[in-house]
Amino acid sequence: MSKIDTKHFDMDNIFNTINLGLIAVDAEGKVLLWNDWIAKHSNIQEADALNQSLENVFAETVSPAFLTALNSTLTHRLPVVLSTALHRSPLPLYNPPKINQPQTRMYQSIAITPIRSQQNESCGLIQITDSSSSIKREKILRSHSEILKKEATTDGLTDICNRRFFDAHYEMAVADAKRQKHYLSIFMIDIDFFKLYNDQYGHLAGDEVIKQVARTLKAQLSRATDIIARYGGEEFVLVMPYLPKKTAEQFAEKLRSAVFNLAIPHIKSPLFKQITISIGICTGIPENDDNLLNTADTALYQAKQKGRNQFISLALCEIEEYLEQ
Ligand code: GH3
Ligand code: MG
Ligand code: MG
Repeated sequence: MSKIDTKHFDMDNIFNTINLGLIAVDAEGKVLLWNDWIAKHSNIQEADALNQSLENVFAETVSPAFLTALNSTLTHRLPVVLSTALHRSPLPLYNPPKINQPQTRMYQSIAITPIRSQQNESCGLIQITDSSSSIKREKILRSHSEILKKEATTDGLTDICNRRFFDAHYEMAVADAKRQKHYLSIFMIDIDFFKLYNDQYGHLAGDEVIKQVARTLKAQLSRATDIIARYGGEEFVLVMPYLPKKTAEQFAEKLRSAVFNLAIPHIKSPLFKQITISIGICTGIPENDDNLLNTADTALYQAKQKGRNQFISLALCEIEEYLEQ
């Protein structure tokens, strides 16, 4: 590698113009070099830093992780890069204040490298770059991707999980139940006589009912493993692992009565004159190509046939007997 042409460049000029903090320390940690960038961002002039122990140059404390890293480079002559994720701001350095905003500490990327002085003494070179804007960019990108992820899996009207999330979650829940041989209960829930509700009160009022029912159903869930999703239109689906048939039936009654107790008027509802739901449940320990969802749907159909505002519960093993009836 060719040497820098010192005839053309004044090294001090380069050293002080570079958009990077440079500090060199000797084996004891005393400051030998302190460039303008560091002076500007620390508000400590070169003359006040030279020959001082780096640890004591700053009025504020220097992060212990930084001191450990520096010590390790000086003792073992190993280069160290401080992780920006773990150590956002090891040194008390600041960006110039913005109008009407408090001065904030600069996020830094720091690399410490062993070097030798011209007298062959073991020294350390500390390079500091301002990572504030890349961290800010990263934060914005992360929050955008979180919003997108949420939008991709959330139903726009009700804010509960959408069909897409359900499809993926259902497959995983079934696979888990098969592998661990535990119960899984699937609930299919449908608002009764909803077409008549829309006809009577209008689509917007119908949307409000869908939202209210979704909120009410969701409020009954308490375990982190249970999910509720909007299956489509005025239909919801619940996936509840580890729930045996009897408990699932008690829970279905809780759901039914919670919606009934909202007492939302529906004068066109032939029987109840208020908003009600029907529920089909399938409970079982799935094997092979058992289909809990189809069975829950069959149970829902049966609940509708039997008069609505009720649940029908089927165990996986009951489905064949039921279909033969
Ligand atoms: P059943 O008791 O048998 O379920 O009768 P239903 O009228 O509820 O059933 P049907 O499937 O005939 O009608 C469902 C209605 O739900 C028709 C549709 O206009 C309404 N619907 C579906 N999605 C939405 C929605 O997002 N908003 C509103 N307001 N209505 C919806
Ligand atoms: Mg329906
Ligand atoms: Mg309906």
